[in-house]
Amino acid sequence: MSDLRPGELQPIEPNSVAQFLGAQGPLADRMQGHETRPSQQNMAAHVAMALNRGDAICIEAPTGVGKSLAYLLPTALWARNNSRRIVIATRTINLQRQLVDKDLPALAEMLLEEDPGAEELRYVELVGRGNYLCPQRLEEAFRQPALKTELSEEQQQDLWRLKAWSLRSDHDGRRQDLTESPDYRVWEEANADADNCAGPKCSYFDRCPYFISRNRANTADLLVVNHALMLADVVLKQGEPKAEGVLPRWDAVVVDEAHHLEAEATRAFTIEISSRQLSRQLDRLLHPRIAGAGDLGKMDLALGGVSGALEDKAHALSNRIVEDLPEWIAAVRQTGERLWAALAGTYGEPERAQQVWVDEGRRVGPEWLESLEKLQEVRVTLERLVARLQTLIDDAEHHGLIEHEPFVEQATRGLASRLVRLSTIMEAVQAVSKGDDSICTWVEVGSVPQRGHRYSAIYAAPVAVDEPLHALFFAPNWSTVMTSATLAANQRFDLLLARTGLRHHQPAAVTLALPSPFNHAEQAVLGIVPNMPDPREEAGQLHTDALITAVDQLTRSVRGGTLVLFTSFRAMNRVYEALASGFVSAGLKPMIQARKGPSRAELLRRFRETQGAVLFATDSFWEGIDVPGDSLRLVLITRLPFSVPTEPIAMARQERLRRIGQNPFFELTLPQAILRLRQGYGRLIRRQSDRGGVVILDPRIETARYGRRFLNSLPPARRLRGEVGMISEALTELFRPNSTDDLGDQIL
Ligand code: SF4
Repeated sequence: MSDLRPGELQPIEPNSVAQFLGAQGPLADRMQGHETRPSQQNMAAHVAMALNRGDAICIEAPTGVGKSLAYLLPTALWARNNSRRIVIATRTINLQRQLVDKDLPALAEMLLEEDPGAEELRYVELVGRGNYLCPQRLEEAFRQPALKTELSEEQQQDLWRLKAWSLRSDHDGRRQDLTESPDYRVWEEANADADNCAGPKCSYFDRCPYFISRNRANTADLLVVNHALMLADVVLKQGEPKAEGVLPRWDAVVVDEAHHLEAEATRAFTIEISSRQLSRQLDRLLHPRIAGAGDLGKMDLALGGVSGALEDKAHALSNRIVEDLPEWIAAVRQTGERLWAALAGTYGEPERAQQVWVDEGRRVGPEWLESLEKLQEVRVTLERLVARLQTLIDDAEHHGLIEHEPFVEQATRGLASRLVRLSTIMEAVQAVSKGDDSICTWVEVGSVPQRGHRYSAIYAAPVAVDEPLHALFFAPNWSTVMTSATLAANQRFDLLLARTGLRHHQPAAVTLALPSPFNHAEQAVLGIVPNMPDPREEAGQLHTDALITAVDQLTRSVRGGTLVLFTSFRAMNRVYEALASGFVSAGLKPMIQARKGPSRAELLRRFRETQGAVLFATDSFWEGIDVPGDSLRLVLITRLPFSVPTEPIAMARQERLRRIGQNPFFELTLPQAILRLRQGYGRLIRRQSDRGGVVILDPRIETARYGRRFLNSLPPARRLRGEVGMISEALTELFRPNSTDDLGDQIL
């Protein structure tokens, strides 16, 4: 008990937790074919200790460890023991679904069988409130003649479809529960975002999907959310766990897929000022084309319905809405238009979306200074508008209209939340105008293809998120478990600790790298082809030509079941075009990740279910895909996955390292590429029975000074080094039925 943190919490016994997962434990009794995994037991015991002590711990748990259960079991026991709530945050919806649909129901059942007298484990999956249907707004959408004029025929059909769906009881009212997503514009009109929400006073409150799940969350032991929602909560609470946020109070957190935390935090801390955002807010205030639409339209309508003693006062306010306010809204629109035009003229290129980093040089240049001037003009007009809206609300209150007229009260609520949103834009303008080295500012100019119009935006993000993350996320006194299949680069957690701010944690964060439960030396071979051309030479032409031959030969040697991973769409398309028809003639099934093609999930389903499939893919396919068995036998890494810093935030991060005398390549680019390669490699062996090969077709793995660092980070597969032909023959032998699997002298 001595290791228990203050607050008189009841610890859970780490050894008992580990035994639960062991050969004599209830899991083995109840789960057929259960294999005891020492790494899983070890992880569960460490999570239990971290929860007892209030520690921060980072656990790298390779595929096959069974990490979900290793953290769900101790968190469930600890939360129930102490009547505390724990957040489980994932980045991807796939993992979230796996936890909620599979792991947690099985665990809850097992805990109940183990202790029939205990209360059932309560867990809830929460999403942002904009993802829930608001029955009140949906109903209102049908009552608004103005909206009908605005929506197209198809959008109106979507609205009816949504209505029919809302009457069914087989879903939780979330957008992801719909089989077919409605048009963006339609969902905008019917989602449960905070604007206009009357809360408990709403007549739909008892059957409101958002509040139903919120109420369940208030009594839950575990909350399953994504990183974005967790961070939104953290930002609102500002390091104060008891403060009002988007989630109920929680006392500990598990961040799965934690290698994405830095990127997600950057997104959460980014400020945006954009043409889309401003016109959306102004349209919602008073629609420019549809009479009566928007918060002011609703307010006018509500005031028009007032009779009796307050009628004159209501009439005067209504006049102000009609005669005075449109002018102020128009002024904001005009200053906004001038700003967007200036940004597009200075930073945009016709027909091309692009991001321009406002670096140190640009920050003092005349173009940016002019943009800032125009930005200030927007702020001034916004300030005037906000002041007038505030006076309108104050006067309505002063005259007793809010107190005595329910419709005015409801309309005021919408207006007040619009005012908050407009004030947020004003604050963002102030933050952007400050401009210092700790903030990365960039301009984005592009077009919205379906709508055919241009947009401009200014963004500002912290160059480093370690300090805000430390202050808001790690410093409050809760236990934090960070886990993923890949957290360490070159056997070290330095990158993660430094980039997320965990290195500031007191007491120091514990790190634990668990061994893979697979026998990579038996199950996998790693091929290296040192005579491939260097991809950096001649713009990669020679390398791509050589890739065509290598991918062809290697893929045919194992008769498909191949995932070919690229770092660029251009190279991927070229190699695919050169090989696809030949593959089809050979009875193979080539597939390619295309921007307008099938979804990632669909492509993976086809890949899994098609014999002889060859999948050409890039970016997101390097991680998080699980294709066990014979469907995936060979992974071809066409190029070491160095990211080219084209995004402003990546460039600013590199520049910052240079400024403080560090080498951005060794401090950032290389460790990130090592992590990425480990993720790519990790696609291969997913089960004890899997066998296969990974071939790296970039010679730098051997010729470059840093090549060893990549190799040292990979699991100990048997290594083959040589020409593509030799590796192809070895792979053919490996997959030949009744193969003795003797790769002889070719193994390094
Ligand atoms: S409580 Fe709010 S979100 Fe729920 S139905 Fe009513 S207005 Fe919509």
